[in-house]
Amino acid sequence: MENASRPPDRPAPRLLAVSKTRDADAVAAMAAAGQRAFGENYVQEALAKIEALRGLGLEWHLIGHLQSNKADDAARAFDWVQTVDRAKLVEALARHRPPSLPPLNVLIQVNIDDEAGKHGCRPDEVDTLAAAIAAQPTLRLRGLMAIPAPDPDMTRRRAAFRAMSALFDATAAHHPGIDTLSMGMSEDCVEAIEEGATMVRVGSALFGARTAREAG
Ligand SMILES: *Cc1c(COP(=O)(O)O)cnc(C)c1O
Repeated sequence: MENASRPPDRPAPRLLAVSKTRDADAVAAMAAAGQRAFGENYVQEALAKIEALRGLGLEWHLIGHLQSNKADDAARAFDWVQTVDRAKLVEALARHRPPSLPPLNVLIQVNIDDEAGKHGCRPDEVDTLAAAIAAQPTLRLRGLMAIPAPDPDMTRRRAAFRAMSALFDATAAHHPGIDTLSMGMSEDCVEAIEEGATMVRVGSALFGARTAREAG
């Protein structure tokens, strides 16, 4: 382990099982083994699984890009949306989350490598978005999420994780209730945890490789 910088007061990491492209039976098998939290990339694909497995008391996270015109379905069906990156989406999710349900847990997705054409807000936009989320009674700000560039150089990936960790601390200074920093996938979840992740999103290492067609 190289000089890890995980802050000692970070909550222990949780495992999010990424179940995109897996059928409801595969999710049910993982649930029977004790896994509760599952991540999906596409609203339409997720709705059928959420409905089929309703009795199991699972926790569903949307981790794919969310178009505003799907905010209605997402706000009703999911427990968490990890990909909030613009004010318009905050407003749409808040409006569509039924007040009869607990507040929708929300993470702000950050484009930490400043990659052109990639989803996620800029780091300097986090403060404004966090304030907008915190002002909505039907939403609950839980923290930040990132998908750093899949750089083969792990030192550069660690630098992105570390930048996210610093941004998380800066956000927590204004929003002490936040507890979630979602970063790290099958390939780099160990490095992400060492750098401060409190949630890793793992698909292929749990369920096996996806075919290229399914890779999404
Ligand atoms: C698919 C996906 C994952 C999981 O990727 P694996 O490499 O299969 O672990 C994690 N996060 C997001 C946003 C994804 O789209």
